[in-house]
Amino acid sequence: MAGELPDFSAQEVSIINAWLDKHWHVTARGCPICHNSSWNINTKLSVMPCASVEGTVTMGEIIPSVNVNCNKCGYLIQFNAIKMGIWKAKKEQEAQSGEGDG
Ligand SMILES: [Zn+2]
Repeated sequence: MAGELPDFSAQEVSIINAWLDKHWHVTARGCPICHNSSWNINTKLSVMPCASVEGTVTMGEIIPSVNVNCNKCGYLIQFNAIKMGIWKAKKEQEAQSGEGDG
């Protein structure tokens, strides 16, 4: 399925929401740009490519991320999906469905 990445499952969205509720205090949820407090979780996992200080960038080394954007101005916050437990959830899901690579 080239070009078609899956959306987060209902279970993964639940994990993300629980993590945000636990770590992102409700009084700190104002957007630093426009002060809006309505946010949207991006439906797909994304990645941040890693780079060296010499300027080398490789897609082989990435940080899996969950993006949350401000509904008003689009300011984007990127959370580490490993810290959130989403990366692990993906691995377990693949293992259960037999689609994993190991
Ligand atoms: Zn904003």
